[in-house]
Amino acid sequence: MATTNDIRRAFLDYFSARGHAEVASSPLVPRNDPTLMFTNAGMVQFKNVFTGQETRDYNRAVTSQKCVRAGGKHNDLDNVGYTARHHTFFEMLGNFSFGDYFKAEAIEFAWTLITGEFGLPKDKLLATVYAEDDEAAALWKKIAGLPEERIIRIPTSDNFWAMGDTGPCGPCSEIFFDHGPSIPGGPPGSPDEDGDRFIEIWNLVFMQYEQVTPDERVNLPRPSIDTGMGLERISAVLQGKHDNYEIDTMRRIIEASAEAAGVDPDGEFKVSHRVVADHLRASTFLIADGVLPSNEGRGYVLRRIMRRAMRHAHIMGCTDPLLHRLVPTLVREMGEAFPELGRAQALATETLKLEETRFKETLDRGLRILSEETGKLGEGQALNGEVAFKLYDTYGFPVDLTADILRGQGRALDQAGFDAAMERQRAAARKSWSGSGEAATDRTWFEVRDKVGATEFLGYDTTSAEGVV
Ligand code: ATP
Ligand code: MG
Ligand code: MG
Ligand code: MG
Repeated sequence: MATTNDIRRAFLDYFSARGHAEVASSPLVPRNDPTLMFTNAGMVQFKNVFTGQETRDYNRAVTSQKCVRAGGKHNDLDNVGYTARHHTFFEMLGNFSFGDYFKAEAIEFAWTLITGEFGLPKDKLLATVYAEDDEAAALWKKIAGLPEERIIRIPTSDNFWAMGDTGPCGPCSEIFFDHGPSIPGGPPGSPDEDGDRFIEIWNLVFMQYEQVTPDERVNLPRPSIDTGMGLERISAVLQGKHDNYEIDTMRRIIEASAEAAGVDPDGEFKVSHRVVADHLRASTFLIADGVLPSNEGRGYVLRRIMRRAMRHAHIMGCTDPLLHRLVPTLVREMGEAFPELGRAQALATETLKLEETRFKETLDRGLRILSEETGKLGEGQALNGEVAFKLYDTYGFPVDLTADILRGQGRALDQAGFDAAMERQRAAARKSWSGSGEAATDRTWFEVRDKVGATEFLGYDTTSAEGVV
């Protein structure tokens, strides 16, 4: 069985052999886009190359890019635990053409890789195209021999990609794998597509236009290609699994976590196992790229991710901090491909441990109060927003945890009530601001960092992030 590490390598080698420069993943904190919270796709580090503002000494590249989707336009935080295919942290394999090859070669490269090298059965694959993109539909028929009914035309923005309100844009084509009728869900574009039977593995973007103004779109003189394939998703397919969380690397983290928690890795805690494994990866990779938990911006997203994982450790009955104990397993699984993990091991371990230790009391108390409150509700009844706000404001219990817990019980949160209470509080706070006391916590993070040493930051120009490996 091909390991995930082998599959990453096979992808990079396949495109290197076809003239692509192998470029290292860029950091999770994007350096060229202050509007973007985290790097969320392979193309991020090449944005300026696509727009022509920057040139490189190659016009084809291949990467395995670290991505986090836990905020902003792409936010998969709430999906984690509940779908077989979403992570907050994942690797996106991508091949890129900067004004070099276009649609026909991109489809040919992808098809030959998955059906040739990877040996996927053709009758399990289907492709979507943008409804107006007759060219792509014809190429799928010609190159892949896909029958008409497995080339699905999608009229929505799901199959039209744009960098922003202006800039490069174009139709895209998503390749799906059919995991079979035993899994619920319909093909893309159908009303029940949200089931997990048909899983999108690869997205090919055909950048052929430039949106000059909101009303004017022109053809790009030299169209480009941007693709993204989820490493964990293709690994699942190649390892004969339906669920991303059953691939080798994820499974080992889940086993380590189940063992540390003293529970069955295959038992009743499926959602919690997924959340802990995913969030451990996201947290550790973010810390390795210089993010520390705090109460705002990126650090706040990191803190939310960590706290959500801690709550799931609690569900599994852990009384002692769990996450930091799993760092060695992660470093073993992924440290070779990402040496920054090993360098940040001490910092990540200390940070996770301290955050979990400090949060424990808040978590225990909040859960107790919330369970008293939900105990008073009828089945499926929503929780009053005032109560959620009190938990948040008085007891420091994060509202996204409250929402996550309610969701597990089939209840909604009265968000409007929560927002109203929050607004009232803000108005009062504006009048007389006195610190929340949390600043002291943040100081502690910097003390830890000083103690164990921050991840070495070499400055972007001297790292290999941009260079050809
Ligand atoms: P989906 O529709 O399944 O949410 P997407 O269309 O949002 O996926 P893209 O933005 O096209 O995803 O990203 C390119 C590829 O990256 C996808 O085809 C998929 O293989 C992978 N991918 C996207 N989001 C995730 C995620 N949250 N976890 C794991 N892999 C992902
Ligand atoms: Mg998505
Ligand atoms: Mg999609
Ligand atoms: Mg897609």
